[in-house]
Amino acid sequence: MSTKRLISIVVPAYNEEEALPLFYEQLLAVLEELLDSYEIIFVNDGSSDKTAAILDQLAAENPAVHPLHFSRNFGHQAALSAGLQHAKGDYTISMDADGQHPPKLIPEMIRLADSGYDIVLTQRIEKESKSSFKKWSSETFYKILNKVSDTQTLPGGADFRLMNRESLNALISLPEFHRFLRGMVSWIGFRSIILPFEAPERLAGKTKYSLKKMVRLASDAVFSFSMLPLYIGLSTGALFFVLALIEAIYVLSFWISGNSDKLAPGWSSLMFMMLIIGAVLMIIMGFIGVYVGYIFQEVKHRPVYILRNQDSGSRVQESEKDTEK
Ligand code: UDP
Ligand code: MG
Repeated sequence: MSTKRLISIVVPAYNEEEALPLFYEQLLAVLEELLDSYEIIFVNDGSSDKTAAILDQLAAENPAVHPLHFSRNFGHQAALSAGLQHAKGDYTISMDADGQHPPKLIPEMIRLADSGYDIVLTQRIEKESKSSFKKWSSETFYKILNKVSDTQTLPGGADFRLMNRESLNALISLPEFHRFLRGMVSWIGFRSIILPFEAPERLAGKTKYSLKKMVRLASDAVFSFSMLPLYIGLSTGALFFVLALIEAIYVLSFWISGNSDKLAPGWSSLMFMMLIIGAVLMIIMGFIGVYVGYIFQEVKHRPVYILRNQDSGSRVQESEKDTEK
């Protein structure tokens, strides 16, 4: 009945020579079943194995495959960003190249988007057998992040999601350099729904997320979505100030009770000056920190707001309801 839509699939791949052919086979089987047309954008994130050659081969066989090759390894979030920027689809789905984001969920994601959601998020439900370190670190990470940040990020959220044209355009309009896409997608708003899924084991190969890469992602997440660390200076300054007051009261109590001779000479003034100087320094550092934070927010050049320009009035009302909360 309607004209064919275009579904874009965005897949970052870093040294995935083993998993890639298996994943492509799975993906193609699902895409061929769809009534829509599709494009697959593979982003080769500076792989040093045969990933590049495999992708070029796939592109030669299938004109719907578009490989992008990075000049070096820029990281998963950068690769995702590049792919999303190149996607032309009405719906764009990002997923990993290792089969841990099962292609068989795609029809369900499209169905949910058709039913009126702008973004279909996915959430991993952890199997009990899952390595306890990864599970624990992920749980703790999201707990801390959601405590310190103004933007709430879905715990166990994966970079496996569908975005319609409108929400994707909004995401692309965020030009910041340090990118934590899960947080950014939550920051832009829009109507979203969560699709839970159980992530299978990798099809082949080992994880490409080293501990260093995980730590970098976590720090990007905390520092681009929270100003809290900058307020540590201010609160420490306030603490020192309170200590100075307590010390002054303590000293005064000796004077009032006529026991001032019991105080070691010079201790009161020295202690008081130390605490006050500490307080002043920390407070001024705190102020500078807050200014740096504001500068940081400005240089990110995020838009001040994002409009939802769908025609129906009910949606506008809904977004007003959301902001009231
Ligand atoms: N990836 C990437 N660049 C990197 C690291 C990973 O493009 O520097 C890709 C990788 O090829 C995979 C996805 O990001 O498609 C997720 O990585 P991985 O499966 O290794 O992470 P894990 O599932 O173990 O957290
Ligand atoms: Mg994986």
